[in-house]
Amino acid sequence: MKIIVASFQCESNSLAKLRPSISDFEYFRGEDIFKKLAVRDIFEEKGYAVIPSIYAVALPSGTVDRNIYDHYASQILNTVRDNPDADGIFIFFHGSMHVEEIGSAELNILKEIRRIVNPECLIALSLDAHANITDELSDYADIISGFKTVPHTDQRECQRRAANALCYCLENGIKPYTYIQRVPFLLKNDTLQTAFEPLKSLIDETLLLESESDVLTANLFLGHCWIDAPNTSASTVVCAADKKRAELVAKDLANKLWATRRDYKFLCEAELPEECVKRAVDGEEHRIFITDSGDNTTAGAEGDSVDILKLILKIAPEKKTCVAGITNGEIVNGFWGTKDGDKVQLSLLGGIDATVKVHGEILGWTKEIIGRSLTLSIGNVDVVFTELRSAFIEKGNFDKAGVDLLSYRIVVVKLGYLFTELKPFADRELFALSDGASCVELSRLGLKKIIRPMFPLDDFEWKA
Ligand SMILES: [Zn+2]
Repeated sequence: MKIIVASFQCESNSLAKLRPSISDFEYFRGEDIFKKLAVRDIFEEKGYAVIPSIYAVALPSGTVDRNIYDHYASQILNTVRDNPDADGIFIFFHGSMHVEEIGSAELNILKEIRRIVNPECLIALSLDAHANITDELSDYADIISGFKTVPHTDQRECQRRAANALCYCLENGIKPYTYIQRVPFLLKNDTLQTAFEPLKSLIDETLLLESESDVLTANLFLGHCWIDAPNTSASTVVCAADKKRAELVAKDLANKLWATRRDYKFLCEAELPEECVKRAVDGEEHRIFITDSGDNTTAGAEGDSVDILKLILKIAPEKKTCVAGITNGEIVNGFWGTKDGDKVQLSLLGGIDATVKVHGEILGWTKEIIGRSLTLSIGNVDVVFTELRSAFIEKGNFDKAGVDLLSYRIVVVKLGYLFTELKPFADRELFALSDGASCVELSRLGLKKIIRPMFPLDDFEWKA
């Protein structure tokens, strides 16, 4: 009895210019993948031989080039070819990887896998809550389990839920049924957080459903609005042994999700960038964070905009400020040979004088060191430049870059909402409604390939 385990993830933003390269993926193969995945013990305790394939995960980025997709997908397919008698396959995908020419990476890999494995083989997926689910996915995946937290803190639990459901079905000879109900609803990702209503009650309901013996998994997928593709939307997905039950529960959840569509609000002050900077300057709080939501690297944007930095330098150059992680390999490479304390000129900002503060490192998406950072001080404003796209989602990112997060009054990061790990350091949070590939105003994204009607671009009645 054997189970294949793999992971291949990159949340795509088809509006972003930069595409991920091979080296943007943190990559492990064989036994090493279990440093990153949380399911091995579940399968081994049940007596399965666990066959590791690959783990390839990148920070969200633009559309994935076909050759990069093929490079990693082919390795998963090779593992499957070497083990065509596998009883089960577990894959931790994101669910919103968009590939040039073919669209959904997840759907395409599953189609290929099904051509190889025996028809009895069960496939279980663990997916991000921001997955854009294609209707056809249920033709190929037997079990789907999605994160129940936004911001995400339950990646391990989600994997383990999928793995346990897979074992349960294999042990009991169950061929589960997955019902997918797309919901024509696409909200600003950053208004959707599971700790708050109305999403909290909906998530609680999925947990309650999963505690019932006839529902294997019950999921809400919120969709990922920055992919211009027909499968972009929210959805509900329910897996159960009984087809009717799965359909009934998925439709009921979909109708409840739809009913909340007007109830999502920003959970902190959300203003245009200039107003955010002014409020941060006038604010009495000890430390104020501004998130540059239009250039949010965790939503696939480039992270190279200096618009808010320019506003800070214009409005509040005297405030002790850190702007962290502006993507600019040219600056990091060009000044890497300097020593801390050296004076340099920044042509990026019209030849302004700066002082090299510290040479540091970039902590990657999966908490490994992936490259170099260089922090330059312009008066009281420290700017952390990174040679690769990065996301400052926790204090450890600042520590690795060599800057003391606790020493700043204003901190600007390339995020939408603040990640849970940063919240304890923020006495106030300002959400800057900036332009860019991760702009949160749907009407400004120019989406042409999504299904219509789609709320809130269209206002209409709908029922599952
Ligand atoms: Zn997500």
